[in-house]
Formats: sequence, structure tokens, C-alpha cells
Amino acid sequence: MQFVTEALAEIKRHGLYRQIPDYDPVDAVHVVEDGRRYLMLASNNYLGLTHDPAVREAAAAAALRYGAGSGGARLTTGSHPLFAELERELAAFKGTEAALVFNTGYMANVGIISALAGPGDVIFSDELNHASIIDGCRLARAKVVVYRHADAGHLAECLATTPCAGRRLIVTDGVFSMDGDIAPLDQIVPLAEQYDALVMVDDAHATGVIGPGGRGTTAYFGLKGRVHIEMGTLSKALAAEGGYVAGRRELIDYLVNKARSFIFSTALAPATVAAATAALRELAARPALVATLQANARYLRDRLNEAGFNVASSVTAIIPVIVGEADAAVAMARSLKEAGLIVSAIRPPTVPPGTCRLRLTVSAAHSREDLAAAAEHIIAAGRRLGIVKE
Ligand SMILES: *Cc1c(COP(=O)(O)O)cnc(C)c1O
Repeated sequence: MQFVTEALAEIKRHGLYRQIPDYDPVDAVHVVEDGRRYLMLASNNYLGLTHDPAVREAAAAAALRYGAGSGGARLTTGSHPLFAELERELAAFKGTEAALVFNTGYMANVGIISALAGPGDVIFSDELNHASIIDGCRLARAKVVVYRHADAGHLAECLATTPCAGRRLIVTDGVFSMDGDIAPLDQIVPLAEQYDALVMVDDAHATGVIGPGGRGTTAYFGLKGRVHIEMGTLSKALAAEGGYVAGRRELIDYLVNKARSFIFSTALAPATVAAATAALRELAARPALVATLQANARYLRDRLNEAGFNVASSVTAIIPVIVGEADAAVAMARSLKEAGLIVSAIRPPTVPPGTCRLRLTVSAAHSREDLAAAAEHIIAAGRRLGIVKE
């Protein structure tokens, strides 16, 4: 085990050692740690539905009716009526023929990509795609061509110059998890059609966030029916846990038979499935939730922008505050923690050197007072640390 000791020492030497914090959640946007209350600006609980009464009651009722665990994989013993209900409603929400639930978004990406591409095929992947997409590409053992972030011109060049005897798959985050910008799907889809490529979009940060009624990236661009694989998670705006894919009925049947992360893993607990369904119904019934989230994000982004911060190209609920070096990001996060705010400091290898940042995520459950106070603290800390001028 000497290598473990050495690896940990190496991580610590680079100031990159990470530990799991111990928070006690009190509501959708506040946690307690060591007796002190903090405002959470780092979770993906975009609509605050984790603590919605109807969602919590649905989860509790499902546990009482169907049990605490599912007892097996879906294809063997783990199915119950709540899955069919959730999948039907997800498909209706996304406007597709069918949907399939996976245990996590990570498992959905890994399972879908490795089922759709293999040796002889080529996957075209945005350089800022989520780690689960990268891992899915590795598992597929297809050739992977990484194109420059959100650069449809570079994607076109890659498509034109990469020989491919098999299938082509273009995969992109819909909303990028570190920059909060939106993939240029309106340019990607015509390219895919020109080169007869499949298009897959990961709507983890887009579901419940962008597009009419929070329906995600395809709806945002009005491309319904032209994106083959719409993946998303139940773990962010939908307040539960799990991943999903929406698309043609045959695609779903294919994945049931081919996606190993679906086949060989125990199904989600009934309470989780019921919570996701209830959250989806809240989202459909209360479009004002999405409007509130968007207005909250715009408010905080505008405040930080006006104060001179670089918030990159964010247009969604993820707001990067670029501060430069790792030390500055860590100092800023630490100073904000002292002020009662929890924000993430993002450093290499997650982002390129010199673009270290705070990553703020806004929720519909944040009050304007919460966000106004947060903006004041961030501006004060930025001035104190010389990141923005007085
Ligand atoms: C969070 C995330 C995932 C993984 O989803 P989990 O449900 O947390 O496993 C996949 N893709 C993107 C873009 C994400 O942000």
C-alpha cells in the first residue's frame, strides 16, 4: 500500500487534496455545518424540489407501498409500476416515443455511448464534455475525435477529415457544467444530417433549466425530432437520483438489450423513482419555477458582471467566476465560507490552468435577499483579494 501513501502525499503537495464535507441539509438551499448555517450556492438542486412537500410525500408513500429497495435489476426482479409511469411521463415531457431510466446520469452516459459505438466507429466529442461522457467514449473503444469547445466550425472540419467505415456519433453536453454556456445544437444538427451522424445531447444541466417549460436543449433550439438521443438526469432539477434517455421506441428497446450499466445493476429504489415522477409533475404544473430560476440566475450574473467579474459565457444557472490561479480560487472560496456561503473552487485538471474559478449554481429556491447578500459578499471578497477593482 506504499503507493497509496505516496499518491496522497503527492496530491497534498499540489494543494489538490479533497475531503468529503459533512453537511446537515435544512432546506433546499441551506445547510448546517458544526452548528453554523450556510447558504448553498454549489448544488444542482435548480428548482429546490428536493424539499418540495409533494415530492417528499411521494417518496415516502412509495417506500411504504413497494419497499425500501428494488431487490434486483429491471430485467430480472427489480421492476415495479412506478418505472413505467416515470418513463411514460419523461417521454411525454421530452416529446419522444419512449424513455428509459438508468441508476445515475453517469451510468446512463457510460451505458448509452458504449452501446451505440464500438471499434470501427468514430465519436466526435466536445472538449468540455462531462467526465461520464469521456468515460463512455473510453468504454466504447471507438475512435474519439475531440473538437474545440462549442466550435461547430471545428466539428465540421473533424467530420470532413476523419475517415469512418462505421457509425458516426456526435455527443455534447447541452449546458456545459463548468461554463454554463449552451452547445450550438442549431449548427451541430445540420452537420450531423450532412454526415449521417447520430446526435446525442446530455441535458443534465438543461432539464428544468432551459427551453420552453424547462424541456431542455433540443426544445430550446426547436429541433424536436432531429436529435436521436436525449439524455438527462433525475438528480439535478428533478431532485431525486438517476439518469434517463429519451428517443425512439426502437432505440430504447436496443438499450434495454445492449446497455450493460442498465442490464447489470440493481434498479433504483421505489422512493427515488416516485420522487422523480413527482418532481417532473411539479415542473410541468409550475412553469413559474423555471422562470424564477432564470430570473435568479440573471440577477446574480448581472450583479457580478457589473462589479467587474469575468463570468465567461454563462447564460444559464451555472455561473463561473473566473479568478485565474488556484490559490485565488481557494482563498476566495474560503473567505466566502467565513461569510456563510458555500461555493465550489474549481481547479485543474477540471478546468485549464489559469482559468481557476468559483462555480456558483443558482436555484429557484434562493430568495432575492439570499442572492443580494451573496453578491455583496462575493464582491467584497473579490475586492479584498484584488480580483476586481473598487
Ligand atoms: C451530473 C452530470 C452527469 C452525471 O449525472 P449523475 O446523475 O450525477 O450521475 C452527467 N452529465 C453531466 C453533464 C452532468 O453534469
